[in-house]
Amino acid sequence: MPSITELADKVDRGERLGAADALDLYRHASTGLLGRLADGVRARKHPDGLVTYIIDRNVNYTNVCVARCNFCAFYREVGAPDGYVLGFDELFRKIDETIAVGGVQLLLQGGHNPDLPLQWYEDLFRAIKTRYPSFKLHALSPPEVIHLSRLSQLPVPDVIERLIAAGLDSIPGGGAEILVDRVRRLLHCHGKASADEWLDVMRHAHRAGLRTTATMMYGTVETDEERIEHLLRLRELQDETGGFTAFITWSYQPEHTELAGTEATGVDYLRTLAIARIVLDNFDNLQASWVTQGGKVGQVSLAYGANDMGSVMIEENVVRAAGASYCMDEVEIVRNIEDAGFVARRRNMHYDVLGEPIFRERDVPRMLELATARLAGDSSRPEELRFYPARSRTGKQERQQD
Ligand code: SF4
Repeated sequence: MPSITELADKVDRGERLGAADALDLYRHASTGLLGRLADGVRARKHPDGLVTYIIDRNVNYTNVCVARCNFCAFYREVGAPDGYVLGFDELFRKIDETIAVGGVQLLLQGGHNPDLPLQWYEDLFRAIKTRYPSFKLHALSPPEVIHLSRLSQLPVPDVIERLIAAGLDSIPGGGAEILVDRVRRLLHCHGKASADEWLDVMRHAHRAGLRTTATMMYGTVETDEERIEHLLRLRELQDETGGFTAFITWSYQPEHTELAGTEATGVDYLRTLAIARIVLDNFDNLQASWVTQGGKVGQVSLAYGANDMGSVMIEENVVRAAGASYCMDEVEIVRNIEDAGFVARRRNMHYDVLGEPIFRERDVPRMLELATARLAGDSSRPEELRFYPARSRTGKQERQQD
């Protein structure tokens, strides 16, 4: 068994770590050493000292979900009084606000709502692309694609093809949690997508020419071995397709969830980020998850392997439902990047640099508070829903009334 020093030398030489070595380093290296090694990997991949971010908007088009994952505080059951679906006009308004602050993309994800058929998504994407041709749609994580495949009884590649034809630009890596079926069963998310099914959606998306991200939510019921297994499964698929642009990890947010429990600490986050940077040698970019960890740990992440500050959050709903709601606008993100000794640059989903911070180029409104998908108490139903067949009994009754 190699010593920690031998493992560290291996990482410094750019050699790939196997499962046993990665686990040993993760468990036994000091936090300082893990950070130094991860920072070395980052510096080799990004010798220019750039740290990027994207201005986009994280919109959750519906909170109605039949998956019922036990770590989720966001979802509502079909028929719940505070269940919502956003209307096309509401989404257009959100895009207008995003463009006003220099935004280039919508990160669109939502619950598995049985009353929104594939046609609704296709019509929405087409309507967005008609109004905003150069605006990007980074939408529908693998479990949502699987949900649509089941609902429409079409194979996953066909669903992806139809969504691309309607305007889908890329797929976010949500819903991965931990890609180990033992964990997924305990989290009640095996039914929405097994580990293989999640990876398979990404494989098909990459084959169809889409770039996607990959994520890991840790800190629920998984073991250290299972965290490493998750990383290795992502690395394996990346070897095969090269389709992942970035990896993002965050800790489970326990408040208001059925699973409950406690949140992982900041040190656990930094160690996990660092081992991910070391193991995922074929990923170009790692994001800092300041939305769950706060701005200060987010900034320190830049010394633990992250080279990207993720999204300038204009809106957030999922993490906020579980008790966390950190907010940084572009000015704050840039201040954190520059104060850590890096050069801040705006990017798109493909990590192409778009330019200097936009607030230095023109006047943009400051966004010091996060927007929500819907204002509290707004239970309006979008008018266009009546054109789409519902699957649930409640949905069918509602459509008859519309
Ligand atoms: S995590 Fe996603 S799929 Fe699971 S219950 Fe929440 S909204 Fe539904």
